[in-house]
Parts: sequence; structure tokens; C-alpha cells
Amino acid sequence: MEEVLSSSLYTQQVKKLYKVGELLGLDNETLETLSQPERIIQVKIQIRGSDGKLKTFMGWRSQHNSALGPYKGGVRYHPNVTQDEVEALSMIMTWKNSLLLLPYGGGKGGVRVDPKKLTREELEQLSRKYIQAIYKYLGSELDIPAPDVNTDSQTMAWFLDEYIKITGKVDFAVFTGKPVELGGIGVRLYSTGLGVATIAKEAANKFIGGVEEARVIIQGFGNVGYYAGKFLSEMGAKIVGVSDSKGGVINEKGIDVGKAIEIKEKTGSVINYPEGRKVTNEELLISDCDILIPAALENVINKFNAPKVKAKLIVEGANGPLTADADEIMRQRGIAVVPDILANAGGVVGSYVEWANNKMGEIISDEEAKKLIVDRMNNAFNTLYDYHQKKLEDHDLRTAAMALAVDRVVRAMKARGIL
Ligand code: NAD
Repeated sequence: MEEVLSSSLYTQQVKKLYKVGELLGLDNETLETLSQPERIIQVKIQIRGSDGKLKTFMGWRSQHNSALGPYKGGVRYHPNVTQDEVEALSMIMTWKNSLLLLPYGGGKGGVRVDPKKLTREELEQLSRKYIQAIYKYLGSELDIPAPDVNTDSQTMAWFLDEYIKITGKVDFAVFTGKPVELGGIGVRLYSTGLGVATIAKEAANKFIGGVEEARVIIQGFGNVGYYAGKFLSEMGAKIVGVSDSKGGVINEKGIDVGKAIEIKEKTGSVINYPEGRKVTNEELLISDCDILIPAALENVINKFNAPKVKAKLIVEGANGPLTADADEIMRQRGIAVVPDILANAGGVVGSYVEWANNKMGEIISDEEAKKLIVDRMNNAFNTLYDYHQKKLEDHDLRTAAMALAVDRVVRAMKARGIL
């Protein structure tokens, strides 16, 4: 843990990039180019609070790489957002979009704010001012933001309205994750969870003999965790453990995810699920199961608990739930880890379908959208699995996934004459 905490998210990403660069035989010039974002915009956002006082916030948009297409990635509102974090996350988006063969580069935005301390009117002002500050660098063929931590379809609606007012361009495809009335697609709400379940099924077929009857534990029962659990249950898996920030519950006979979400909504936590044994999050992660899906926070599986994890397969629903130490321990223990840049990419694939639908004039049905997401996730998994088997069997799946993604970006940059 100390190692992770002492090196920033950006430093960790650059280290991973250099490791993959070595495997691909990339030269220093190329790696230095890929380490830096193409553009980083820093803005000061000032709003007049409901108490009449001026409130000031810092915001960023990092545009990491556009070799494969316009920048794409979410905007988060969080009191701990830093430029370092936004740059690192924009780099991760470049690899995620590349791995999924999407026509996008990588971008990410963030505002350093605690949204829980703002009124709805103040949040709307903040969102509009953020767009006023960065609109010149956005566009459906330039940079396409989406929701992330603490932003949602309402935030996208404010972004879009402000963008249209300033530019005069009625272009709904500039933002994804919008309300359905503004060109959003219903599937976007559950596309990340659907993608996690789809990948878990494919990986279970390859590594543990199938998903039916597989015992699954999910840490984090929010958007990603709940929908992953719902779709995995429908595929015949048995959800034996779930948790949220207050703790978790284990029931070897199986947990009804529909009932669990009702109880969470009614009482505030899944720990009030009546049948089963209450556990802490620490216990949950090392409880007996076939598939473990960490879908809450980063760095939850580290060198301290990785040796005790009993799962045979880990599918990363959250971004960065395993530290580098944990990765190495899992590799030595022969436990497959499907990395976040593949496992939770259903969200950005859903965004891609929404963007394409807006561009084509709203012709895709929800069923078609769902099929597109599932097919794209399955294809990406199988491409990665084959590549790993043929080229990088001695390394983990994460290294293979990054190698595939980085290689595609480098080939595009060479073809364009950038490198
Ligand atoms: P969310 O806020 O809907 O849910 C998060 C869940 O984690 C909640 O149930 C919360 O109670 C729980 N949680 C918080 N702290 C916890 C703790 N200490 N221990 C256990 N559980 C805890 O968020 P989400 O959208 O489901 O995102 C979860 C993760 O997935 C994040 O890492 C996010 O970056 C990543 N992700 C989300 C999407 C998406 O489309 N929503 C896409 C890609 C990646």
C-alpha cells in the first residue's frame, strides 16, 4: 500500500506504459510522447453562491491522445480531484478506447469540488461555467465528455444546453450519457454492469469451466455492482456475497439481487439483507467464491490480502481495484485477473453507441444497442485471450491488454506521421 500511496496515479500509469513499451520494443521518443497528454486545460470556475458569496473551484480537461479519433472520457466532480489524477485517467481512457476498437482517443475532465456541499442551483451554475471555460476544445469530432463520479445525465443536459447556447451548434453528439429526451439511450444506465457480466461469463468459460452455478462475490453494490450481479444471475451464476460502504452479507445458498437492491434503497445498505451472515468488506474480499468482482474503489486488493483471496477468477468492475503487488501475487498464484480497461469498458461502448446513434439520426433500438455492446465486449475479450496465449503467456492479462492497446495507438501515430 505504501508504494501505491507514495507514487501518484499518473506515475503508476507511466511505469506501466514503460513496462509494456519494453515488451513491444518501443523507443524512448515514442514512450515520452505517449506519457504526456496532447493538451491539458486548467480553468478557474467562479459561481455566486446562494449565500451571495463568490465560490471558486479549479477544473481540468486532459486530452491525452487523439491518434485514433476524438478525445473521449468522463468528467468527475470530487473534492480530491487533481491535475495528476485527471491526466492519468485520460491516459487510461486512451488504452480502454483502443482496446475496444472504438474510434476515439482518450480524455478526462474533473472539477475539484464536493458536490454534496452545493445546492442544485449552484451545481447547475458550476456545470455551465465549466463548459463556458472549455467549450472551444469540445465537439462531437473533437472531444466528447460523459458522466463519471458524481456527475450524471442531468449534468450532461446542463453541459449540452450551455454548449448549444454559446456555439449555436445544435449537436447532441458532443456529450454522451444524456437523458433519453436529449438523445441518450436507455441501455447506457446499465451498460457497464452488462459489460462486466458479459466479460465474466467469457472469462469463466476459459478459466473456471463456465458461469452457470459459479459462486460470485461483488464488492460495491452501486451502478456497476448491482447490474453486473443482475445480469450474472440471469446467466445462471449464484451471487453469494454483496457489500457496500457499510459492510456486506454472505449467503452460500444465493442472494436475490432484486431483493438486495430493494433493501439497499429502503434501508440504505445491503447489510440489512435478512438471510445470511454479515461481514466486513475485508472479510468479503477473502471469502470463498469462484468469481470475485471488486466494483467499488481502487487499491482494495493489495499485498496484504491478495495471498488470502479464495476466488479462482477476478473481474475488475471498478477502476484500479488491484495494486501492482496484488497483480504479481495473483500471477504467481495462477488466478486470472481480467483488467479494468476491458472489464468495465461497457460504459464507454454504451457511450459510443449513443454518439453513433446521434450522428446517424436516432435509428438504433435499445435491443440493437444492447447487442452491439455485448458483441463488442465479447470480441475484445477473445482478441485479448488469443493474443495473451500466443504472444505474452508469461505475463498477466493486464499487461497483454495494455500491449494490444498501446500497439494500436502507436501504429495509428506512425501511419499519420506523428511518430
Ligand atoms: P456507485 O457510486 O454507483 O457505487 C459504488 C458502490 O460502492 C456503492 O454501493 C458504495 O456504497 C460502495 N462503496 C463505497 N465505498 C465502499 C467501501 N469502502 N467498501 C465497499 N463498498 C464501497 O459507483 P459506480 O458507478 O458503480 O462505480 C464503481 C466503480 O466502477 C468506480 O471505480 C468507477 O470508477 C468504476 N466505473 C464505473 C463506470 C460506470 O459507468 N458507472 C464505468 C467504468 C468504471
